[in-house]
Amino acid sequence: MKKIAILGSTGSIGTQTLEIVREKQDLEVLGLAAGSNIQLLEQQIREFSPKMAAVWSEEKAMELRTKVADTDTEVVSGMDGLIRIATLSDAEILVTAIVGMIGIRPTIEAIKAGKDIALANKETLVTAGHLIMPLAAEHQVKILPVDSEHSAIFQALQGNTGNPVHKILLTASGGPFRGKKQEDLLDVQVEDALRHPNWSMGRKITIDSSTMVNKGLEVIEAKWLFDVEVDQVEVVIQPQSIIHSMVEYEDGAVLAQLGTPDMKLPIQYALYYPQRRYLPGDRLDFWKLRSITFEKPDMDTFYGLKLAYIAGRRGGSLPTVFNAANELAVQQFLNRQITFLEITEIIEDCIRAHKVIEHPTLEQILETEKETYDRINSRR
Ligand code: NDP
Repeated sequence: MKKIAILGSTGSIGTQTLEIVREKQDLEVLGLAAGSNIQLLEQQIREFSPKMAAVWSEEKAMELRTKVADTDTEVVSGMDGLIRIATLSDAEILVTAIVGMIGIRPTIEAIKAGKDIALANKETLVTAGHLIMPLAAEHQVKILPVDSEHSAIFQALQGNTGNPVHKILLTASGGPFRGKKQEDLLDVQVEDALRHPNWSMGRKITIDSSTMVNKGLEVIEAKWLFDVEVDQVEVVIQPQSIIHSMVEYEDGAVLAQLGTPDMKLPIQYALYYPQRRYLPGDRLDFWKLRSITFEKPDMDTFYGLKLAYIAGRRGGSLPTVFNAANELAVQQFLNRQITFLEITEIIEDCIRAHKVIEHPTLEQILETEKETYDRINSRR
């Protein structure tokens, strides 16, 4: 039995992880954490009988405690609760499927407690990669990518230890607005941006995909995961989402991982690494597919991607500003407080105004997040 804990169990990645657990006989869930969806969390507690479950607010935790009083699951709350789930004594692997920078502290504590990390929560690596990766090496824990692109790169790297990577080709669908220009995006509504052509995901990452900020976050995530410079990561638009990413080696050989767009493959690969297990679902049918096409990203329209390269190249606290500004701006867009194009404008303003801190500590990262939020909130 492999024992796992999941942060963000009620979300898109979290529920797909639990679907895998449901199908297999050799995974046991010890801990689950969610934000506020206690209805679903209660169902999950009843089905998977974890030792412990966490919800963000103490008020909701009290409600959940009453609901599951007939079970053996202990209900905890707040950051302390997330950390307790992340460090549960018998858990071997923590799936970080929580959304946003809130994942940093539990991930750090899980690494210190010797847990392998199945990492979906890219915001953690973008902002704190310089702390996370050396810590993981020190504690000899694996950081196993769940993001489909990074899983593809990770798969293309297998068996190539010692062979330097020349370039990473990070594929992107281009999102719902591929081919559009800025003037076409003036009146974009939340519903338009939430309509992703190929992937069904949580709301924040779906908006990030529509601005291509998600690809920018992934460029920085790749830098940390695979120890490359951001300029070694080239974004390639591949609208069918069949090639999940590629690695070019020194001799010019390009290794790719292909598959249907199904997040369960990378989640399962991370959970069972290095084994490959049977996964039900569609298989690639090349005769139906017939062609796979490629385009260059339009970094003038999708300026957020260009800003990610600027932030990633400069490093220090700038990726935190890029990420935090995006987190709040996306929330404001989803709340219909700002327009679609303002998301990128806000990120740019925050980047311009920030005085970079080199090698920020965790406290400085969290202070930078707060400063960025304060700057955005004082705009109106
Ligand atoms: P969702 O919005 O679907 O789910 C987010 C999860 O985090 C929910 O379980 C939510 O709980 C929980 N959560 C939010 N805030 C808190 C909090 N304060 N305390 C505890 N739990 C909290 O997101 P996704 O699953 O789409 O994405 C999760 C992460 O994975 C993101 O970093 C994303 O970028 C990354 N990712 C996602 C992919 C996908 O296909 N969805 C692909 C690759 C990466 P509640 O439901 O109660 O709000």
